[in-house]
Amino acid sequence: MIIVLKSHATDADVADVCRRIEAMGHRPHTIRGELRTVIGAVGDDRGKERLRALESLECVESVTPILQPFKLASREVRPESSTVVVDGVVIGGARIAVMAGPCSVESREQLLEAARKVKAAGATVLRGGAFKPRTSPYAFQGLEEEGLKLLAEARKATGLPIVTEVMEPDKVELVAAHADILQIGARNVQNFSLLKRVAECGRPVLLKRGMATSVQEFLLSAEYVLSGGNPNVILCERGIRTFETSTRFTLDLNAVPVMKRLSHLPIVVDPSHGTGHWEYVEPMAKAAVACGADGLLIEVHPRPEEALSDGPQSLKPERFALLMKSLRPVALAVGRD
Ligand code: PEP
Ligand code: MN
Repeated sequence: MIIVLKSHATDADVADVCRRIEAMGHRPHTIRGELRTVIGAVGDDRGKERLRALESLECVESVTPILQPFKLASREVRPESSTVVVDGVVIGGARIAVMAGPCSVESREQLLEAARKVKAAGATVLRGGAFKPRTSPYAFQGLEEEGLKLLAEARKATGLPIVTEVMEPDKVELVAAHADILQIGARNVQNFSLLKRVAECGRPVLLKRGMATSVQEFLLSAEYVLSGGNPNVILCERGIRTFETSTRFTLDLNAVPVMKRLSHLPIVVDPSHGTGHWEYVEPMAKAAVACGADGLLIEVHPRPEEALSDGPQSLKPERFALLMKSLRPVALAVGRD
């Protein structure tokens, strides 16, 4: 249920309403907007009728049901777009956030070269996988903890915050000790025990859409993280599986305006995995910005031909720098920076 407080409601009123919601067996999530405070009460649907009685409180304007199955992710609860701030980098603000770096961390030299070059080109977050979800057990699985340490070193060298994937609930603490943003990969978007663990990790989460996940299922996965107490969720559209085989996946840019309408969460688009070919990354990155994405996730490798994963879709640093230049007029045309 959505409990909208009157504009003159005080902090004591907010605390009182939250206490009453808890006493009714629901969890209150307070969202302070510019004009008024809204409290989302989530829990067992059977308690809805009791919550309606809160409308009789003097400080309460209205109590209405949340119609969408995802509650805290919904714009019904929070009409204004939310932002996630990582080390001073705002994701969801006017400025397009660009997360770039290699698919996998392969060596100190490879990572540091990529990190310095993406930073010089204007990237604001460094990406790189230390734990890699590979289709084949014979493929490179990542440098694991050693990779996390190299990412931490690259952050020190460049000042860029780090996003890296976590695949198992038992590794959340380890990855959170080194990374600034935890990535949940497409293959784990419905790994509910992992989602519950990252909800408690205290770090922002970059949640990638699964290749066979509907928008509603995706937003319900985000709901696991939000309802577990972590408000810092960034959605990532990375392509879905269709009958089309000329690209690796079909980048579903429809999902950007659709999710913008349904949810207040920031959205990043990954044209690297979404297309699987470096030539298509630039046009689709521009399209993503044009249709309202808040950020981009782009794979960059100093020598894509030697990459241990995803070489064909990785940009050389020089191409990435050109892409950043060519994105600027697109961002400005849609009122972004
Ligand atoms: C990645 O970011 O390198 C990755 C494995 O992405 P996805 O989970 O979207 O396939
Ligand atoms: Mn990759």
